[in-house]
Amino acid sequence: MPRPINATLHLAALTTNLRVVRRFAPSAKIWAVVKANAYGHGLQHVWCSLAENSDGFALLDLNEAVLLRESGWQGPILLLEGFFQPADLMLIDRYCLTTAVNSDWQLQAIAEAHLQAPLDVYLKLNSGMNRLGFAPERLHSAWLTAKELHNIGSITLMSHFATADGTEGVTEQMAVIERATAAIDLPRCLANSAATLWHPHTQGEWVRPGVILYGASPSGNWQDIAATGLQPVMTLSSKIIGIQQLQAGDRVGYGWRYAAGGAQRIGVVACGYADGYPRHAPTGTPVWVDGVLTHTVGSVSMDMMTVDLTPCPQATIGTDVELWGRKLPVDDVAAAAGTLGYELLTALAARVPIVIEK
Ligand SMILES: *Cc1c(COP(=O)(O)O)cnc(C)c1O
Repeated sequence: MPRPINATLHLAALTTNLRVVRRFAPSAKIWAVVKANAYGHGLQHVWCSLAENSDGFALLDLNEAVLLRESGWQGPILLLEGFFQPADLMLIDRYCLTTAVNSDWQLQAIAEAHLQAPLDVYLKLNSGMNRLGFAPERLHSAWLTAKELHNIGSITLMSHFATADGTEGVTEQMAVIERATAAIDLPRCLANSAATLWHPHTQGEWVRPGVILYGASPSGNWQDIAATGLQPVMTLSSKIIGIQQLQAGDRVGYGWRYAAGGAQRIGVVACGYADGYPRHAPTGTPVWVDGVLTHTVGSVSMDMMTVDLTPCPQATIGTDVELWGRKLPVDDVAAAAGTLGYELLTALAARVPIVIEK
């Protein structure tokens, strides 16, 4: 028998979450963002459920785009980071992909390519994130160049927000976008999950939600999405495979990072950092065991971790444990570990068996 760990995918939650996005952005088309292997859920497992109600898929790996096309998706596919070398344009052309364009060299490469059909492009503006995109003062000339190219079909304006989930909001970047596009009339695609939920004036023609499709909070705080109807898509669960009865002073695990203050029963769970559970999660990180919330004790090992069984004295070998999911939001686990649900979901290890729940 394999180790008892698995990740259950609640596919119906994808449909629910997409419906929530539609409610928040009723007049925009939706790019369902499925980069990073659908935020760790497995592109091949989730795309059919999302396809029912999304207008396109956005990702950044050319191989994932080809996989999606060859799996049967005939609608739009957007390459969020554009292409990385001119030769990529052959595949972009063959598979009818939409590509972001963020640099002059990419415009040049498109101009020189031999294509079967003009490409739809997303002209990317750097509005303050300072990762990819044309500087605001360069956007106008990039647009003038792009619209003259026979190899370019439709052009959409794209930009990305740095603080749509925080108190700074989008005001500063929206001002940059308005200024840079004063003399340019293009359809817009600006909003990530946070902007889609919390800054509706950014929505434009297309929105690009990612993490909320999977039921996690863009802010890292589950309370921020608790009232939206968004539901977790992944439940990571395992079982207790060992019990230890500690006495005062007994220590636990690598580095003996935990010492019992008194008599204490702990459980050993078949889940470790090689499954994608964060190794830096400190003692006190929440875990759901047998109907109650308890917490980790000591270091997370590669294949195992230890949890306090004081609140669940009935727990024994074989008892169910939820690491995150429907009973324990991934955001709560991530917050305790000093990270975001994004990181935990995308880090799910390939060795964890996936169980599909329709
Ligand atoms: C990842 C990403 C998104 C989606 O972000 P979420 O915060 O998960 O909604 C949107 N746009 C771009 C360019 C991205 O890289």
